[in-house]
Amino acid sequence: MRILESVRSVREWRSAKNPRETGFVPTMGALHAGHLNLVERARRDNDAVLISIFVNPTQFNDAEDLRRYPRPLEKDLDLLRAAGADAVFLPQPSEIYADGFRFEVHEKELSRILCGAKRPGHFEGVLTVVLKLLQITRPERAYFGEKDFQQLRLIQDMVNAFFLDVTVVPCPTVREEDGLAMSSRNLLLSPGERKIAPLLYEVLRTSSSAAKAKARLEEAGFRVDYVEDKWGRRFAAAFLGDVRLIDNVEL
Ligand code: AMP
Repeated sequence: MRILESVRSVREWRSAKNPRETGFVPTMGALHAGHLNLVERARRDNDAVLISIFVNPTQFNDAEDLRRYPRPLEKDLDLLRAAGADAVFLPQPSEIYADGFRFEVHEKELSRILCGAKRPGHFEGVLTVVLKLLQITRPERAYFGEKDFQQLRLIQDMVNAFFLDVTVVPCPTVREEDGLAMSSRNLLLSPGERKIAPLLYEVLRTSSSAAKAKARLEEAGFRVDYVEDKWGRRFAAAFLGDVRLIDNVEL
């Protein structure tokens, strides 16, 4: 597995691989079975798989959240080797944001609702870094999880709006046995919070309305950011302690 630490090294790796088809999986690391499912899917569809691990500072609207985001790099690299990844891109913020974040991608509708209404600047950071990463890696296909459904929709729309030559492949949410959507932030839950956390999925699935789901979550001890129905799905974000969890289900 090649470790690529600069934009130049990615470009060289890509041109040496030509004309093989490459699948790209962007992540922020602290990898779990949800990420590895994207890697597996990318391996099935492509000749080569490239993963990026980059804790993107511009998408964190909370400095403390960025500071404590888990970064178990050696373990991540072992998991990717075992998963058969061909290359991993580990960029530096100074190279990705050599422009000092003077340029950014703004979207004016979807990015303002649901999580976007609660996390100002978040989707600008996400879209900007995804555009940069797609431009650097030039994959045939890029893989994104439905766990972050709003993000997936925004990326699909950006790819269409800017005529980017890549196919976005959506992948279903991978869950723990008790239903909790896998997330790097689950590592930050206390044992007590971890026990309550699966209720988020359970309540979204079984409540007769978004309002009832919100009330049930609050009763269980969640601090609810929102529960909303949209696109035939039910979306929620809620805190346990200071850990923010998100999930969505088809209605
Ligand atoms: P992250 O490292 O959290 O930025 O996630 C990187 C990619 O993995 C995104 O496309 C996420 O939607 C996807 N992902 C994260 N968790 C899951 C999950 N539990 N199931 C499926 N995809 C996921």
